[in-house]
Amino acid sequence: MSEAASSGGAGPASGGAPGAGGGVRATNRERILDLLRSQGPMTQADLARASGLSPATISSIARELREDGWLEPDDGDGPARGRALALSRSAGVAVGIDFGHSHVRVAVADLAHTVLAEAEEALDVDHEAHEGVALAGRLVRALLDEVGVGADRVTGVGMGLPGPLRRESGEVGDSSILPGWIGSRPEELMHAELGLPVRVENDANLGALAEIVWGAGRGSTDLVYVKVATGVGAGLVLNGRLYHGSSGTAGEIGHVTIDESGPVCRCGNRGCLEAFAGAEAVLEPLRRRHGDRLTLRQVVLQAQGGDVGCRRVIADAGRALGLAVAGACNLLAPERVLVGGELAQAGELLLDPLRESLGRSAIAATRDVPVLAGVLGERAEVLGAVALVLRESQRFVAEPAAAG
Ligand SMILES: [Zn+2]
Repeated sequence: MSEAASSGGAGPASGGAPGAGGGVRATNRERILDLLRSQGPMTQADLARASGLSPATISSIARELREDGWLEPDDGDGPARGRALALSRSAGVAVGIDFGHSHVRVAVADLAHTVLAEAEEALDVDHEAHEGVALAGRLVRALLDEVGVGADRVTGVGMGLPGPLRRESGEVGDSSILPGWIGSRPEELMHAELGLPVRVENDANLGALAEIVWGAGRGSTDLVYVKVATGVGAGLVLNGRLYHGSSGTAGEIGHVTIDESGPVCRCGNRGCLEAFAGAEAVLEPLRRRHGDRLTLRQVVLQAQGGDVGCRRVIADAGRALGLAVAGACNLLAPERVLVGGELAQAGELLLDPLRESLGRSAIAATRDVPVLAGVLGERAEVLGAVALVLRESQRFVAEPAAAG
């Protein structure tokens, strides 16, 4: 929690932020603005608790920030509606972009965590990176127009890609999901397109952030989010922050060994979780009965309709997931586990077997950790890209344009 106060130098990069007044007061103003941006609207009492500042100090800084146009009363749908302080629209907006296999989604939210507009457009599966970037750029400009906010009010752009990203070079690694992006540098490309600061993250990490801000993880500071779709990956939030690990690859739960003599995984090892719960593991045993063109979505629908084979395969995937999740729970003791991605649409058909095997394999202290389905569905990544800006960026735009 001392981070905000000690990071003055890394604070508002555009130099415009709340610099009025002397050192301590300016630091405290920044601290309050950082809390409101990362946590969403808060009451003065919550701000005092979270910042360690006295209620009198909070009250006086809040008055000053309101006069300067940074704050307005919270008119969102949060629990403290009406009593809470929220960052004003003119304090800035956050942009999220999500590239999928055959779509791009874009969302704009204000710094009070209200999503203002969203758009989606289809993309050719074999599109080149520059085509995807140009389309996303058009969508972002159109959405900013729609909500009446200029590019100078954008705090940052978060971007999600399903492919692996090489952290040192910023290049997209070998990826069968987005072949046209391999070797490209998405952060640079999007920065050149929009002229705005851009951060790129993988899809599981974004799912975790989105569920914390808008979904089933609200209020959690320690969370394991498992995305079960084509591949299996996890986003880890520890002490309220995304955890990347030393190489940036933390969360590769899909390649935890479940059975050393199991099937060979696409990573080259044997018996990884993904070889038991990834799309191919779910689809392959069903093809003889349901045909070659079966999709995960169809498997989930058939299972919900009572198909015994589809139910069985989903339950098997759930049990395999439970073994790996038990290991993660023993190591990290999260407050809750969320499961997202296409297979999570199966709900209890997946989660019941998962909880059962988790209960057998976890130590007593973590056996009862709540395991819930994520609630944001296919919007999880684009909202997570917005949340990346809200929670993880250190940048504010210049002083509010006009006092509200
Ligand atoms: Zn593997």
